[in-house]
Amino acid sequence: MENFDVVIVGSGYGGSIAATRFAQAGLRVLILERGPRWSTQDLKQSDDPRYLSKVVDLVITNAGFAFRTGCMVGGASVPMDGAHFRAPQKTFEVRDDDGRPYWPSGFSRSALDPYYARVESIMKIRQFGWNEIPKAGGLFAKMLDLSGVSCERSRLNYTDCNHCGYCAQGCTFDKKMTMLHTYLPLAEASGAEVRPGCLVDHLEPDGTGYVVHYTKDAVKTEVRGARVVVACGGVHSPALMLRSKKYLPKLSAQVGENFNNNGEHGVIGILPPEFDDLSKYACYMGSENAAMMTFHYFESEGFTLHPGGGLEPSILASSLSASDHPLVPKRAWGMEYKRFVEAIYPNRLIAFSTLGLADGHRAITLDFKGAPNVTERDRTTYDAYLDRVERLLGDISKKSGVALLPVVSRKQSGTTSTHLLSSCRMAEDATHGVVDANCEVFGHENLYICDASSVPYALGVNPALTISAVTERAVEHAIAKG
Ligand SMILES: Cc1cc2nc3c(=O)[nH]c(=O)nc-3n(C[C@H](O)[C@H](O)[C@H](O)COP(=O)(O)OP(=O)(O)OC[C@H]3O[C@@H](n4cnc5c(N)ncnc54)[C@H](O)[C@@H]3O)c2cc1C
Repeated sequence: MENFDVVIVGSGYGGSIAATRFAQAGLRVLILERGPRWSTQDLKQSDDPRYLSKVVDLVITNAGFAFRTGCMVGGASVPMDGAHFRAPQKTFEVRDDDGRPYWPSGFSRSALDPYYARVESIMKIRQFGWNEIPKAGGLFAKMLDLSGVSCERSRLNYTDCNHCGYCAQGCTFDKKMTMLHTYLPLAEASGAEVRPGCLVDHLEPDGTGYVVHYTKDAVKTEVRGARVVVACGGVHSPALMLRSKKYLPKLSAQVGENFNNNGEHGVIGILPPEFDDLSKYACYMGSENAAMMTFHYFESEGFTLHPGGGLEPSILASSLSASDHPLVPKRAWGMEYKRFVEAIYPNRLIAFSTLGLADGHRAITLDFKGAPNVTERDRTTYDAYLDRVERLLGDISKKSGVALLPVVSRKQSGTTSTHLLSSCRMAEDATHGVVDANCEVFGHENLYICDASSVPYALGVNPALTISAVTERAVEHAIAKG
């Protein structure tokens, strides 16, 4: 059987960063990635669902909810929208109902700052200039200004963006600094091997390391790692761990629990006539993240607001059908509906979402085939968070004149999110979490989970930068441990 010092499963943020640091420390590293390896020439400016489903994996659950995750070499760094924020200190201070902090001791904004800085430098993350803000960002700023709320320019990993508006399809101009542009070349320069097309089923300990079972080209095979890093993201890492549970007797019962969508709640705004000077913007112009955001409500209410660039017609249609707003026709079909859509699409619309310090209310479980599924859990505190958010959005709507409607119904809130956190969360002990503060699995030495699933709680800002900083920190500890 092949033998490596470190086998890493998944090549998104967690996997690529871990591979780079272990390889640079002189260890023999193998990355197993289920998806293909694409180059920039394979990417297209296309909204064809057949194309999009190759760039983003849609995990559709038994309840019909769809979550979007990465599915190729580079993971979701390829289709993501580029917003990279450090989490404010308040994020690290949140406690559960029993007064227990979600983050293990040792974590704070200042403790993570050196790791944040390292990632920002490699990924060329910077604040957008005023001349780079898309029109959607201007509309968002105007709406907030009328409500007495300030906002600021976002930080993105784009070099000189062309503003073509096709970010989530994968940047065809090499302007977005994905894992394929940053960490993976560093990992490979230090000898790491990336093996695409390898779907990992489960892993088993063998006394001194772990045997990783995977399928490549329809052939079942296995490889051994003295250390293994699971980095399949917030949906697929818990699924892999649940499939491995019978071989890992000490695994925490928290695997798959606490699945958290980062308090993401999508909203569509219909602009009033007062916005006419700015409302000539069309969809797909400017970066897909509209590069403005506000921390205005963060200290008092625990959430931030972020605008998207444009609205795909399909999203608009489903949102309108979910709404009971008096402006929206009662039926999502027929002439009245058609005329309404003609009047607002695409120039009289704005889309944005909240990201907030909200509890998880779902768990990742397995279906009968061993594929990930989502099970609903108690959502009392999540609903209380939505109540708070809706009250403040109501205030913005009243002051700005923008009619605000949710993108999906309350029951589905969070299912449009790509922030899939905490399903193998870190904690002080195995009663509360799956991995320790250094992302090592409780009870199973040299087995690590470094990705969105190990982040212990919602962040209230976009998660990629914190996932990266936490991984940098964890691997530094793992290497120092020897
Ligand atoms: C369209 C979109 C826009 C986004 N925009 C932003 C944004 O602006 N800012 C932000 O901070 N975040 C954004 N995100 C979220 C961000 O991309 C994720 O939080 C981040 O990529 C998570 O990193 P990860 O390493 O946990 O997982 P991923 O990046 O998803 O990587 C996991 C990898 O594991 C592989 N894998 C899964 N299962 C297996 C298996 N069994 N065997 C082998 N390989 C496997 C997958 O194919 C994938 O490549 C966005 C995501 C999407 C999809």
